[in-house]
Amino acid sequence: MAKLIDGKAFAEGLRVRIGAAVAGLKSAHRLTPGLAVVLVGEDPASKVYVANKAKQTVEVGMNSWEHKLPAETSEADLLALVTKLNNDPSVHGILVQMPVPKHIDSAKVLNTIDPAKDVDGFHVVNVGRLSTGQEALVACTPTGCVMLAKHQLGDLTGLNAVVIGRSNIVGKPVAQLLLAENCTVTIAHSKSKDLPAIVRGADLVIAAVGRPEMVKGDWIKPGACVIDVGINRIERDGKGKLVGDCDFASCEKVAGSITPVPGGVGPMTIACLLYNTVRAACAIKGVTTPEM
Ligand code: NAD
Repeated sequence: MAKLIDGKAFAEGLRVRIGAAVAGLKSAHRLTPGLAVVLVGEDPASKVYVANKAKQTVEVGMNSWEHKLPAETSEADLLALVTKLNNDPSVHGILVQMPVPKHIDSAKVLNTIDPAKDVDGFHVVNVGRLSTGQEALVACTPTGCVMLAKHQLGDLTGLNAVVIGRSNIVGKPVAQLLLAENCTVTIAHSKSKDLPAIVRGADLVIAAVGRPEMVKGDWIKPGACVIDVGINRIERDGKGKLVGDCDFASCEKVAGSITPVPGGVGPMTIACLLYNTVRAACAIKGVTTPEM
């Protein structure tokens, strides 16, 4: 049976280290990292997510600001708020919660955020820096996936990694991070031919598809590490249940290690957001980023 990769415990440990780093920055440099989160509209899932971000930001000792705007906010007003936050020296990280209402151009919003404060890592400058091997703020969920893979496997050099999914949020950035870790990276997607055969060659599988339990145990190379990014709500036996993109029951029989859903990649995302905010604050202030 595969070893379970406990993302919840790893994220808790990371938050403790972030808290210690923040305390050190306060005393040594009078620097309190600050994160501003902007939510437009009333999407219930986004509201829960934003509240969790704010809670965890405060818990590690950082400043937190929440800007809740009505769904009918104009694009111009949202861009004006982002510009105000760009110019506020106490704000080191800016996150505009996606999705924004349809009348707002999300790419325009993301690219208005100062790249130095872009803790979501979605600005084209950070995406370009990542893909050219330069220092960058990198998207949070992909960062969390690679932290868990390295925690489990150590050095990833030379491993065959298969990423399933090519979104800008997960698939593409996680592939870039794995390339930077010297993996041989294959990106599979909805138009790939014979996906099971592609996955069978992988020492490391990152599934970011959004299709419940799509990846089966007989696709997995014995002993491979499986990182399941998917969060899918399904009905089973008359009850609601969260499942990943991998069929956990069959995959855990073959894999060497696997992340559960929930409790795997999910808890890493906010922890990595806090991690990015500390990194952004240190870079803006010109101090060395502490170990975290
Ligand atoms: P997306 O819909 O933007 O992208 C899905 C990708 O999967 C696409 O690139 C598509 O080509 C590929 N795909 C679709 N069907 C396929 C198939 N049959 N075979 C192979 N590839 C296929 O989704 P996303 O934003 O990248 O998210 C993926 C999953 O990860 C979702 O379940 C989402 O909820 C989850 N997610 C979790 C976190 C977290 O843990 N915090 C964060 C982001 C996304």
